[in-house]
Amino acid sequence: MSNVILEGIFLKRSQQKKKTSPLNFKKRLFLLTESKLSYYEYDFERGRRGSKKGSVDIEKITCVETVAPENNPPPERRIPKGEDLSETDIIERFPYPFQVVYDEGPLYVFSPTEELRSRWIHQLKNVICYNANLVQKYHPCFWTDGQYLCCSQTAKMAMGCQILGGKSFRSGRCLLKPDKPLPPTPEENKMMKKQLPPEPVPGGQSRTRKVVALYDYLPMTEQDLELQKGEEYIVLEESNESWWRAQDQNGKEGYIPSNYVTETKDSLEMYESLNPLQFALGTWLLLAAYFKDRSSFPTPYPTHEMLMMSPASKFQGKDGGFIVRDSISNTGKYTVSVFGKSSGDPQGMIRHYVVCSTPQNQYFLAEKHLFNTIPELINYHQHNAAGLISRLKYPVSSQQRTAPSTAGLGYGAWEIDPKDLTFLKELGTGQFGVVKHGKWRGQHDVAVKMIKEGSMSEDAFIEEAKVMMNLSHEKLVQLFGVCTKERPILIVTEYLSKGCLLTYLRDTRRSLQGTELLEMCKDVCEAMGYLESKQFLHRDLAARNCLISEQGVVKVSDFGLSRYVLDDDYISSMGSKFPVRWSPPEVLLYSKFSSKSDIWAFGVLMWEIYTLGKMPYERFSNSETTEHVTKGLRLYRPQLASERVYAIMYSCWHEVRRRQPTAEILFARIQ
Ligand code: ADP
Ligand code: MG
Repeated sequence: MSNVILEGIFLKRSQQKKKTSPLNFKKRLFLLTESKLSYYEYDFERGRRGSKKGSVDIEKITCVETVAPENNPPPERRIPKGEDLSETDIIERFPYPFQVVYDEGPLYVFSPTEELRSRWIHQLKNVICYNANLVQKYHPCFWTDGQYLCCSQTAKMAMGCQILGGKSFRSGRCLLKPDKPLPPTPEENKMMKKQLPPEPVPGGQSRTRKVVALYDYLPMTEQDLELQKGEEYIVLEESNESWWRAQDQNGKEGYIPSNYVTETKDSLEMYESLNPLQFALGTWLLLAAYFKDRSSFPTPYPTHEMLMMSPASKFQGKDGGFIVRDSISNTGKYTVSVFGKSSGDPQGMIRHYVVCSTPQNQYFLAEKHLFNTIPELINYHQHNAAGLISRLKYPVSSQQRTAPSTAGLGYGAWEIDPKDLTFLKELGTGQFGVVKHGKWRGQHDVAVKMIKEGSMSEDAFIEEAKVMMNLSHEKLVQLFGVCTKERPILIVTEYLSKGCLLTYLRDTRRSLQGTELLEMCKDVCEAMGYLESKQFLHRDLAARNCLISEQGVVKVSDFGLSRYVLDDDYISSMGSKFPVRWSPPEVLLYSKFSSKSDIWAFGVLMWEIYTLGKMPYERFSNSETTEHVTKGLRLYRPQLASERVYAIMYSCWHEVRRRQPTAEILFARIQ
């Protein structure tokens, strides 16, 4: 079987039955590969895949789209109006339908969350984008009781009644991206390569690609090019994934960090696009802040407006502050929320404008001003109020955007000059010796590992460091470079102010919320999905090797480093420092490391998170743990972990053949 791209549990509507009844909806495990979308029975008790119930050939798919929610869902899936349901209750009702249309008609699949639905639609669109038989029209509503609810046609194969793509603001169908870009899977990487051939233009040159800087960047080497936030640049060469050669508007050329820029034309990243879930989460945070500030609000506003106007809100009463977000009431559309003051209303108010589209796929906020893309529309309204409460002056963000780390301190700079380093305080001592907080060129925070002589096979590490420098992901502790000309050698990495995750979990006096714990697991999962896509094994994933940033983001550290440790106690699986408690049976018995052993460790790390830093198998010695684990016994469910969360960690501890194949898939399930 070819590689699994996605795996997830959805509700599937039976295609055979003439009349729809509640019995026609079944929970199935769906697997997406490059050639098939298959669904299976799923044993929830054991967390196991059951027998195959059916599949659709990818090449036969003609369309993948959302479906308008049913008017009359069966009672167990209905979300009663006015009733306050918990997030879990909503998830259990699978309220987000989508359709996979193929030569036998539409297959209706119901997703527990909107985020998961867009992720699947995105991936499905990616795998079908070269199908010969894609259609341009589809049915936005269900085929129910013998007819389509949108157009009343009675033939299941009847041609669609609505043109596709009205809601998408990206031009190329194959280039649809989820709101929050996820690390590409190997399949995606392959596909992106397939999808982006250099387009020849008359004259035989490649078409130029323009990008916009998301952050300022000051050159760190002579070969770098300065970036100014909001300015446009032409990309000249992308052979290095992290550093692109680019040209600014004055014709100056140099290397830029690729994670500091975004596509010009079709990106809303500049304005922060929030999906409703993130929006709701932000709302809770603001709500908490609001209750502290209650006295300053004389009148009750509708909830989210009130929240956005709170002093705690990022709008902060700034006239013309705006965000672009997914619409809450109009699924699939975008809303621009603007804060504005007028002479009659000095306190100011928030107005929400849904981005409307014409049948010709043009967009408008205020009529008469039509645009081909949403960014063009935003751009226009940044200069003209044209009917809005204020022109769009300041894009505001729910999080302070801090510039991400670059892969190294400048293009090609992996050897760092120790004279550029100044040392501040000592952070701790690890396997290789002391770790210090420092500054690079007096400005950039860094952490420096001072490698104790005899603790590392240095030459082998220095060789590997060049590879590790190119691993760059927001959830990985970035390796900036090494100083190898003097002894001790130094390893310079990104600095994370809140230190080690394990200590953070143990010391944290305030009780960590369930959502925070899950977020931590998701952070690690994203990093591991990325490492796996690069075919890079961590080999020592555990809470002690994760760090926490100032903003509370968990990042994975020390990946691959264990290979260079010179210490028998650490290397041998019988040794006292070997991470026995994080290792699967195949490592303990035959030293067989693989991405599956990293996944086992990820499960144990989830367990550490949900026990707030307990020692796994705390009553056992290392050798008792080995015996226990190889016999098939596993860690218990932590009190803070729901059955659902425990099922995820438990699935990491299946025997190697049945263990989840990729961290990426776990990530899809965790959402
Ligand atoms: P080693 O991996 O060499 O055994 P560690 O990575 O465990 O060493 O480092 C020792 C301690 O130093 C950690 O527990 C942590 O508190 C601190 N530390 C290490 N790296 C960083 C960093 N990048 N930012 C902040 N603190 C760090
Ligand atoms: Mg460590």
